[in-house]
Amino acid sequence: MIKLFGPDRQLLGYEDQEWAVWVSGMDDVLPQPDLITALVTAGEQNAALCGGYDGHPHTPVAYAVVLHHGYAWAQSVEHQAGRDCGMRNCTDCGARRAPAPELKSLTADEWAMSLAAAGLEPGPAFAYRLASGPYEAAVHIATSTRIDTDARRELADGIQDAASGVIWRILGRLPVATLRRNADGSTSETAL
Ligand SMILES: [Zn+2]
Repeated sequence: MIKLFGPDRQLLGYEDQEWAVWVSGMDDVLPQPDLITALVTAGEQNAALCGGYDGHPHTPVAYAVVLHHGYAWAQSVEHQAGRDCGMRNCTDCGARRAPAPELKSLTADEWAMSLAAAGLEPGPAFAYRLASGPYEAAVHIATSTRIDTDARRELADGIQDAASGVIWRILGRLPVATLRRNADGSTSETAL
């Protein structure tokens, strides 16, 4: 029997790996970038394992378990043990966390000067807002003129996709439209 929790809990992964998913039976440790991704991976693995189980007494039963620094993760257990559960929006743990360092923002002038100094050309800007609300975030990109037009467009599209994904992950909202300021100064708003 595996001891997942308690003082004699077993190390199933690696202590220097913050998040991972362990699949029993196969004894696979799948590294994960963050808790949310680990939970999604574990959910998918568990569904696949459950769907593949034929009920035969000799078929091994396998489970996917989220690991935090190598040990089984459960929010309630982390809280009982006085550890940080790792959930970004946990109010209990949030109160004990050190405030995030303040990001120094670049002024529009500094941004323009940095671009010129680095030989970069301002590219499109993507602005995000809700249907009826104000703008909530914007990303302005710059690229080198040495990159060909097709690659720059592809890069801009990729960054727009990535920005949309991050905004969904952190703000929990899907932008309904993006405002794109094109290289020629025109703007185009695209409904999503
Ligand atoms: Zn917590």
